[in-house]
Amino acid sequence: MKYWSQTFIPTLKESPADAEIASHKLLVRAGLVRKLSGGLYTFMPLGLRVMQKISQICREEMEREQPAQERGGAIELWMPHVHPVELWEKGPRWAAAREIMFRVDSAGAGKGRSKEPEFVLGPTHEEVITPLVKAEITSYRDLPKNFYQIATKFRNEIRPRFGLMRAREFVMMDAYSFDATDDGAIKSYLAMKTAYENFFRRIGVTAIAVEADTGVMGGSFSHEFMVPAEIGDDDVIYNEESGYAANREKATSGLVPADLVDAAPVGELEEFATPGVVTIAALEAAPYSVAADKQFKTLVYVGDGKPFLVILRGCDELEEAKIGSLGFTVFRPATAEEIEPVLGAKPGSLGAVNGSVKNQSALAGIFADHAIRLVGNGTTGANKDGVHVRNVNVTRDLAITKFGDFRRVRPGEPDPKSGQPLKVRRGIEVGHIFKLGTKYSEKFEAVYTDDKKQSHPMVMGCYGIGVSRTLQAVIEQSHDADGIIWPWAIAPWQVLVVNLDPQDAAATALVKQLATAAEKAGADVLIDDRVERPGVKFKDADLIGIPLRFTVGGKGLKEGIFEFKPRRSKEVRKIAIADADTVVAQVVHEAAVKA
Ligand code: ATP
Ligand code: MG
Repeated sequence: MKYWSQTFIPTLKESPADAEIASHKLLVRAGLVRKLSGGLYTFMPLGLRVMQKISQICREEMEREQPAQERGGAIELWMPHVHPVELWEKGPRWAAAREIMFRVDSAGAGKGRSKEPEFVLGPTHEEVITPLVKAEITSYRDLPKNFYQIATKFRNEIRPRFGLMRAREFVMMDAYSFDATDDGAIKSYLAMKTAYENFFRRIGVTAIAVEADTGVMGGSFSHEFMVPAEIGDDDVIYNEESGYAANREKATSGLVPADLVDAAPVGELEEFATPGVVTIAALEAAPYSVAADKQFKTLVYVGDGKPFLVILRGCDELEEAKIGSLGFTVFRPATAEEIEPVLGAKPGSLGAVNGSVKNQSALAGIFADHAIRLVGNGTTGANKDGVHVRNVNVTRDLAITKFGDFRRVRPGEPDPKSGQPLKVRRGIEVGHIFKLGTKYSEKFEAVYTDDKKQSHPMVMGCYGIGVSRTLQAVIEQSHDADGIIWPWAIAPWQVLVVNLDPQDAAATALVKQLATAAEKAGADVLIDDRVERPGVKFKDADLIGIPLRFTVGGKGLKEGIFEFKPRRSKEVRKIAIADADTVVAQVVHEAAVKA
């Protein structure tokens, strides 16, 4: 048991000015963290205790065997946080990831590498674990293996916000699996998915697995674990009945029927003057009156230094993450200055009609969203300022390099599985699993020899749980107007015994008795022994959110009773001192079983 006066829980009445969301306010008010600077936080004793409890449960679930997938548990290790930059240069994502990485200027800055750092701080550890495994594992007999750590990660986020949600330094569980075969890699992936589900359930948070984009990590498939919350950064597109759930970045819909027959041309191409018309909406208006779903929208991007076009319906928006499927290492929207020399016009009059692009050979490709096939014959820019062209037929007039899914799905569109209407809700990404494939093992030559002495690259998976973000997501999901309501398993303490008369010997003796009984029943106990007014103690108790509270002292003690109140309920139960040990044991058991 711990005495409040002997730990340090600096609670606050007021929320910090920079805290916009409930969980951030409560983190600070309940004394769990203190801010050093944007995205950098000290974990105070209470916050640290929760983090240690979450980490311990995470560890247990990572190490648990998964017989259904024929997989043992993951194996813990600890890797350096400071990485030689050469490893990152050798790896596949330096160009994409360098922006977010902290560089370490060392004394070596003068040794001819002054423009590049010698070291970087690790945002994750693929570049460290893969060379390690290459050096240590050579035979199929030593596979599969899955290594994990629970450690600090560094990311120079452009906009750190919401406290621990998007921090510059944060705690992550990261794991890396190595398999001999693709089937094996899928088993490792599924074993981790199960471990994640068990972990989130045990800590008492609802987190849903959704299909996710593979982003700069590449890889073949991926799930994110999302805690549903209004303040989340991600949109989850879902339908409960069919079970479809995907991050909006990845979500598809059944909008374009599989058996769609492409429309035949309706007439000759016909240019018409549209002075000053540079938006979809302006062309929708009179006198032109071209509905947005009868327009083609032409976007210009630059991928790995070369411009390319993305064609969408006028009524659709680009889902930028989906461009990732085209395989460019880095891409961005082209600037107006870059556009004109290639297309021949300024944005607002752009199109992709055969022969109208000024310098078509400069393009890395013309990529079209499937849904433009629904347009059939439509209107687009003529690549002459103030001119559009009508009767543009998708098959006859557009030289599409490749069709793909590039548009943002909208709620109400048919689910790709069942045709039911899709819905959208916000979520906080607390975990991510990737089946990575051989991208890293090929780069770092992490190969093994099979039973016929043939050499193959290992098939990898990588996995992350944002431990510190999860801590805050729990608060976001479980609080009320008075404070945090901790789930049993990760509460900093599970039982709080409030002593209203810490100077009174009888009160103090009963407090000790209750605390001992609760500990015997398996609970972590905090005793509020501060000399403070009852009102202050009760407010603090609600704020820090300990699941069970016993209160001793005042009138009740003279009447031979003490009080019991679960954090979740408003009702106070009076208990006879004579029944103390049995009742304490009983309510602790009940709380532990329910959890
Ligand atoms: P996000 O999309 O939120 O930026 P990410 O996809 O870049 O996250 P991953 O590389 O998948 O993150 O990292 C694994 C986990 O680490 C995430 O699921 C998230 O819970 C956590 N995480 C990532 N970035 C941060 C951050 N800046 N602060 C706190 N936790 C983070
Ligand atoms: Mg992620």
